[in-house]
Amino acid sequence: MISFYPGPSKLFPEVSQYLQEAFDSGILSVNHRSSEFIEVSKTAVSLLKEKFEIPESYSVFFVSSATECWEIIAQSFASLNFWHFYNGAFGEKWFEYNNRLNNLEFSPKSNFQKVNGSKFSCQEEIPSNSILTAMDVLCLTHNETSNGTHISSEKLTELKNIYNNSIIAVDATSSLGGIFIDFSLADIWFASVQKCLGLPAGMAVLVCSPNAVKKALELNHRKHYNDLAFIFEKMKDWQTTHTPNVLNVFLLKKVLEKSSTIRSIHEQSLERAKDYYSYFTTLGLLKPLIENEKVRSNTVVAVEGGASIIDQLKKEAKQSGILLGNGYGEWAKTTFRIANFPAIQEKEITVLKEFLQKFVNQRK
Ligand SMILES: *Cc1c(COP(=O)(O)O)cnc(C)c1O
Repeated sequence: MISFYPGPSKLFPEVSQYLQEAFDSGILSVNHRSSEFIEVSKTAVSLLKEKFEIPESYSVFFVSSATECWEIIAQSFASLNFWHFYNGAFGEKWFEYNNRLNNLEFSPKSNFQKVNGSKFSCQEEIPSNSILTAMDVLCLTHNETSNGTHISSEKLTELKNIYNNSIIAVDATSSLGGIFIDFSLADIWFASVQKCLGLPAGMAVLVCSPNAVKKALELNHRKHYNDLAFIFEKMKDWQTTHTPNVLNVFLLKKVLEKSSTIRSIHEQSLERAKDYYSYFTTLGLLKPLIENEKVRSNTVVAVEGGASIIDQLKKEAKQSGILLGNGYGEWAKTTFRIANFPAIQEKEITVLKEFLQKFVNQRK
């Protein structure tokens, strides 16, 4: 089965061999406070910084999931005001969890509640509304996996300029590793590893600017094992607040050692995405869900069609050994999604395209 599912998604094929290597090396049976594990962790962090061009001054942490990162941010900055911009299921879920955790008291600082947010159209960019600059923490979803939209780097630059006093936190789960990211445009970036990074589920990478760390230490929230103040202090000695996912840290290190530069991965993702969009634009039977080219994702392509066509297409794809991503939330029945992640090989895309062409031709 070829998987185009956007999470968990296709693993890098080399993972098979690295799994065996992890077992044979004995790393899975050593203590996570040992020098052997520290060496693996250190190398993984330095490779992440090198390969993804993360500024040297930023901190990198290994945590359990992107969902955990939503809570880490909500807890670690609990005394501040938050504003969420969202247009789909993941951004909205983050907003909901932050609401539940933090909206118990009204903020005296402004007329806002502590956690606020607004939904914007998935066909449009985030509005540039400077009224909200009083917000301390701005929460954004870089790539909304549920509907195949993204925030362009131009938009991020604009937001960074408008909200230059805020901490900007970005969920980059389905973009980190697939496209080039200018990390200086935000203070907090995070991603689970089972999407663009092509690894098994169960770990996330959390990247923080010196500013984000400083703020967390000033606020000094220490109620939860995974408050940023604890995470940061532990990582100073290459330790974690809990037993880390040693296997995934090992696999990440192995995959990064062999991976090409993020600039070349970026070019490939953009080219493949462009190809997909132009293909679906001319197809007739199906079309890209997102019409506005400025907000179209380069890593998750959402395709829209009649509910019965979509249902038929997913079934026939499965029979042909191709797993497509189901639609999500309000788009569950009328769309399917294609992961455009680096682990997917050119020959697999060819198989998908041949299948689609056949499917469409039969209905002409
Ligand atoms: C998949 C996904 C998540 C959730 O990831 P978990 O590993 O399940 O926590 C969060 N945000 C985005 C944008 C995602 O695509």
